[in-house]
Amino acid sequence: MASGTNDNTPPHGGPDNTNTGNVGSDNQSPTTAPTTSKDKKAPAAGGTDKNAYPIVDHTYDVVVVGAGGSGLRATMGSAEAGLRTANISKVFPTRSHTVAAQGGIAASLGNNTPDHWSWHMYDTVKGADWLGDQDAIEYLAREAPQAVYELEHAGVPFSRNDNGTIYQRPFGGHMQNMGEGPPVQRTCAAADRTGHAMLHALYQQSLKYDADFFIEYFAIDLIMQDGACRGVIAMCIDDGSIHRFRAQSVVLATGGYGRCYYTATSAHTCTGDGGGMVLRAGLPLQDMEFVQFHPTGIYGAGVLITEGARGEGGYLTNSEGERFMERYAPSAKDLASRDVVSRSMALEMREGRGIGADGDHIHLHLDHIDAKVLAERLPGITESGKIFAGVDLTREPLPVTPTVHYNMGGIPCNYHGEVVTIGKDGNPDTVVPGLFAVGEAACVSVHGANRLGSNSLIDLVVFGRATGHRLKELIKPGASQAELPKDSAEMALGRLDHFRYANGGSPTAQIRSDMQKTMQKHAAVFRDSKLMAEGVSQLAQTYQRMNDIHVTDRSLIWNSDLVETLELDNLIAQAAVTMSSAENRKESRGAHAHEDFPERDDKEWMKHTAAWFDGWGGKGGEVKIDYRPVHEYTLTDDIDYIEPKKRVY
Ligand SMILES: Cc1cc2nc3c(=O)[nH]c(=O)nc-3n(C[C@H](O)[C@H](O)[C@H](O)COP(=O)(O)OP(=O)(O)OC[C@H]3O[C@@H](n4cnc5c(N)ncnc54)[C@H](O)[C@@H]3O)c2cc1C
Repeated sequence: MASGTNDNTPPHGGPDNTNTGNVGSDNQSPTTAPTTSKDKKAPAAGGTDKNAYPIVDHTYDVVVVGAGGSGLRATMGSAEAGLRTANISKVFPTRSHTVAAQGGIAASLGNNTPDHWSWHMYDTVKGADWLGDQDAIEYLAREAPQAVYELEHAGVPFSRNDNGTIYQRPFGGHMQNMGEGPPVQRTCAAADRTGHAMLHALYQQSLKYDADFFIEYFAIDLIMQDGACRGVIAMCIDDGSIHRFRAQSVVLATGGYGRCYYTATSAHTCTGDGGGMVLRAGLPLQDMEFVQFHPTGIYGAGVLITEGARGEGGYLTNSEGERFMERYAPSAKDLASRDVVSRSMALEMREGRGIGADGDHIHLHLDHIDAKVLAERLPGITESGKIFAGVDLTREPLPVTPTVHYNMGGIPCNYHGEVVTIGKDGNPDTVVPGLFAVGEAACVSVHGANRLGSNSLIDLVVFGRATGHRLKELIKPGASQAELPKDSAEMALGRLDHFRYANGGSPTAQIRSDMQKTMQKHAAVFRDSKLMAEGVSQLAQTYQRMNDIHVTDRSLIWNSDLVETLELDNLIAQAAVTMSSAENRKESRGAHAHEDFPERDDKEWMKHTAAWFDGWGGKGGEVKIDYRPVHEYTLTDDIDYIEPKKRVY
């Protein structure tokens, strides 16, 4: 857990906590029905009785968990539709990982070069190595321009062209003319602080529509009843009070789980809590084997240097000073898609052309670019270069290495944001009532086996917005909700209490570091059968150690030890699913480069992995795998299904 501003008083339109001492308690809502004690005292320490935790009850039409770009866009849409909406976030909204997004957001505005939504769609399908669902990708590409204009009107200060239009830069894998090239300028940018600008605008808009924010609340588990989601249980991190949110729908917008690796560009808060909750609810996660390595993490620090750096003319060299990408991707060169560039870098290092005493990094050159251009378009990374590598980018190359960056896999859902699973009747598109997922936590799937740069930010707002629309269609504002089942808080409090008093021999940090090292080594840029089989068995052993975990802090006041343990529990389940899904997929596609099966195999493997994890309860970490078909059809007749072909850049 990153600590942050401890501001539990909702800044606007939020619940008033001054009367009761119950932080964030929803005492204004006419629909609120407190069912148990609203005792202001934190639960007594010292016992392992889950009844010792008084519960504060809240009722909303919609609860969104997560206040990154996707959660805020969904919150804004839901509140704008007149639905009583709560947003729960473990960090202050504008500290969500979206704040770190530098490069920009893709949409075919055509401001700097000719462009068309069908070109954007084509590039996304190809980038995804034909594992994306083409109906959802068509939706994304078509809706993207509108979503960007909405952001502009919401107040995002985009960089501008001389004629006043939004500035767009080139990004990897984005081309003109249905992949024929040359590179297109499609990525709209606010200097190299696009995510920062987006979060602020979206937070302001959500407040304008009167959504309630429960800030620095940690969502623990979903409340499920007869296969439907009825709400969520959360803990106020500040005082340890437990809050039960009853809702007609819950939207999971909890971000990625990059932190199951040792080195990642993502924030320490990216622990995939939504994915953990979904697995515990007995639902599958999809395509978890596809983990994106960004080519340019700063060597040693893992901090990201945006692909926008190569978009603005940066290039990579090996120890011989050679611009090696010309060999691997003769046409797109340094702007080939991320999986291709990361693999090329890994190969250069493996063949002895890496830089440094250990030959374990590559150089990124920006020193040939006019310093004025760098200062204007890439000020943030210029600063990062100085701080994290001690390098002046305007004069010398920066040491970089492929670094874990993004999770293509996640909670399976359709392009309305509705979570789907394989039904009892075998229907692979069975909607889970009351449950939605958006953003990096979700797998729509538009990114398939490999996401193109700047396609995540657009995914956040397009599908955050689509979720708002769907909620409006499905939900009657203020409709009465049935009582929750008596055991609605049992799983969440059972886990909380279990970890709070855990007194074994393995500190959380030790287990986490074992898991991270296993993932780093056994589910890396290149994988082979032996490596992954070892990974599966090592993770199973690490998982067993969860039975022997040790939490030192027993209090409930800002107990980061406990919160990190709950996060680890979410991470390790997803690490297990990722490793097993990777070991199971016997082909190479997108980010999954399997050395024993180097070719893509569309006949056998053009299908989504759906993986369940049965680990909770110390059963040993069983992963069960099934498949969902890839949607080999488009949304409308305006464009034909894009047939698979070999992916060359
Ligand atoms: C350094 C970096 C740079 C990037 N640059 C770009 C870019 O230029 N363009 C692009 O398209 N993509 C980029 N990406 C990817 C993109 O930024 C992310 O995929 C995206 O921002 C994720 O947004 P999100 O809304 O899904 O979640 P996040 O922004 O990660 O937010 C997650 C939210 O969930 C909340 N949360 C999580 N768990 C809980 C819990 N248990 N209880 C309560 N709240 C919880 C958190 O508080 C947070 O508010 C970048 C990623 C990184 C790491």
